[in-house]
Amino acid sequence: MKKKIAIVGGGTSALVLSLLLDSNKYEIDIYEKNKKLGRKFLVAGDGGFNLTHASNIDEMIQKFSPTFFLEQSLQNFTNEDFRLFLRDIGIPTYIGSSKRVFPEKGIKPIQVLNSFLTAIQKKGVIFQTEKEWKGWKNGKLIFGIQETEVEADFIVFALGGASWPITGSTGSWISFFAQQEIPTKPFVASNCGFTTNWSKEYKQIWQGTALKNIALFTDSSYQKGELVITAKGIEGNAIYALSGEMQRQLKVNGSASVHLDMKPNVNVEKIEEKLLQSKQKNTSNILRIDLKIPELLVSLLKESLSKEDFLNHTILAQSIKGLNISIIESSPIQEAISSIGGVSLNAVDKNFEIRSLPNHFCIGEMLDWDAPTGGYLIQGCASMGAWLAKYFNQLNER
Ligand SMILES: Cc1cc2nc3c(=O)[nH]c(=O)nc-3n(C[C@H](O)[C@H](O)[C@H](O)COP(=O)(O)OP(=O)(O)OC[C@H]3O[C@@H](n4cnc5c(N)ncnc54)[C@H](O)[C@@H]3O)c2cc1C
Repeated sequence: MKKKIAIVGGGTSALVLSLLLDSNKYEIDIYEKNKKLGRKFLVAGDGGFNLTHASNIDEMIQKFSPTFFLEQSLQNFTNEDFRLFLRDIGIPTYIGSSKRVFPEKGIKPIQVLNSFLTAIQKKGVIFQTEKEWKGWKNGKLIFGIQETEVEADFIVFALGGASWPITGSTGSWISFFAQQEIPTKPFVASNCGFTTNWSKEYKQIWQGTALKNIALFTDSSYQKGELVITAKGIEGNAIYALSGEMQRQLKVNGSASVHLDMKPNVNVEKIEEKLLQSKQKNTSNILRIDLKIPELLVSLLKESLSKEDFLNHTILAQSIKGLNISIIESSPIQEAISSIGGVSLNAVDKNFEIRSLPNHFCIGEMLDWDAPTGGYLIQGCASMGAWLAKYFNQLNER
């Protein structure tokens, strides 16, 4: 007789897991609280669907934090494996700018999701939709207000994190885990925007403007990318990549600080030389014309420096290469692309089995790991799903 696997939560990691499980060996049900599976997957598709990233896998692994946690899963099911897997279910991909991997042009996010769902249904996996998991009763999983009991040989939780709760990933399941004394950590926004201490006027004038080819750095990180000015401060891939570090600083110090390099490809000496040798009489014009610094950064330098410092070529050159940005708080978790926190990593073993609850597993964003946007999050979830599928498929009859 086939063993039963109940997958609770029908997002990215559940989709990959169910597609790779051996349906000759297992009867598979996915329990999802929404009417449809994969709503966050669909939302992710709205703003440029980065399914994975095309960097070398060893480089890719370094982007995950902590690195060790996902290493075996990523080595086992790499970004190249994921692209082949996607192609096999009818989703050809291409490598775009900054090595991000997208579905081929013309393929809409809903088509990507439908390709997954069609392939999964073909395997005979049952979609149990509108079934909200409500915890355990007498050792059994219960669903919905009727508290319907579900039993299975193996339970896989793939409940997601706590960002964008409108998609169903509310993180409210954390209390059920805490009741079972499974170690958890509070959710915190990641890949999110931040409020800066810039003036209201500055934010009002420049909100919505994108800054390309800049870099942000701290004592321990350096991130090239893009920033967008918002009504509150900043967002964009450069700050998203540093959001874990910003959150740590905010927690410890109540504020955070990051430096903006406006000219990542020019060194400070060259900038100072240009400032000194310019024929322009006005410093703002030197910045605009000779150094090609966009107006919003000229304004930011003026807003951030005293008049004396702005006119001092050494200080101005140093500021162009590392203007301090003071951060007051992060955007709310509801607006973040992902979250950290959830089930503590030491609560699970190398196969993601909950140490204190045999035959129960956790995969995906519900575990306390972090990665930047740009395809790493979906790849991480997919690789965890693939690892667990391999584990189950190789499992001897017990
Ligand atoms: C706006 C946005 C853009 C993004 N863009 C990208 C991108 O381009 N590239 C990238 O790599 N990543 C992106 N991400 C992140 C990526 O979508 C997630 O990291 C990934 O989907 C997480 O997968 P998961 O399987 O862990 O959980 P999810 O996909 O969040 O799925 C969890 C599922 O569990 C269900 N669930 C929750 N609680 C219960 C319950 N009690 N009972 C039953 N079901 C429940 C939820 O309804 C949900 O369907 C983006 C995220 C957002 C919000």
